[in-house]
Amino acid sequence: MQQKIDQVVDVLQKARRDFPQACFASSLGAEDMVLTDLIDKHGLDIEIFSLDTGRLPEETYNLMQAVSERYSTPMKVYFPDSAAVENYVAQNGVNGFYGGIASRKACCFVRKVEPLRRALSGKGSWVTGLRRAQAVTRVNLEVSSFDADFGLQKFNPLLDWSHKDVWAYIRNNDVPYNKLHDEFYPSLGCAPCTRSVTPGEDIRAGRWWWEDPENKECGLHASKSSQVAHGFGVSASSDALKRRVQTFLEKS
Ligand code: SF4
Repeated sequence: MQQKIDQVVDVLQKARRDFPQACFASSLGAEDMVLTDLIDKHGLDIEIFSLDTGRLPEETYNLMQAVSERYSTPMKVYFPDSAAVENYVAQNGVNGFYGGIASRKACCFVRKVEPLRRALSGKGSWVTGLRRAQAVTRVNLEVSSFDADFGLQKFNPLLDWSHKDVWAYIRNNDVPYNKLHDEFYPSLGCAPCTRSVTPGEDIRAGRWWWEDPENKECGLHASKSSQVAHGFGVSASSDALKRRVQTFLEKS
């Protein structure tokens, strides 16, 4: 385990050394708490920031507060542009993301991608907590690669860590974490777009649970080709999608 930790610290140091103005985008998920702990513990000059979409679960706000009390490295929080949110809601409705992939991605764009672009503006490199095993959309990731969408070198130091590795680090180092993880939410996002999973389900099955697995990115880590699919209008919603949403709402 120590060897894996040392390798992560090496990657973080490289990101900071080779690319001044390195930053770490924390989603406050379990992996990102590991990286927050290591950045703070080693006093690495990497700016930590997070995005408040306005639709986060209460438990995530509690964790944000715990992070600010535990660590001396500050975590800057970016918010969506209020006029853009108002416009989205006027066009799609406050829960318009259930209406189709285009309207869901448009919501993610307004609440996540645009604030992320602002946060990354002027930065030299971007550290993330992505792991290969998290999703079919992440199997081809590399530890370091150029992200053409954001024009930055991107580092994924935990790429080959397992779910077990992440939780071993959190337990061994008493790292604060989102209490929803104890209620079968292995992957966390906005409250209306995240549900708990059952044993045997994919760990990201609870994210945008009404969509097909290959669509399950919000645009923060999508490839250029997949971002072409981002739209700002509302697509015709499919019957299958409507049925999945309806089934979920009936079971909730
Ligand atoms: S996860 Fe859901 S609520 Fe959050 S930005 Fe994306 S579509 Fe909107």
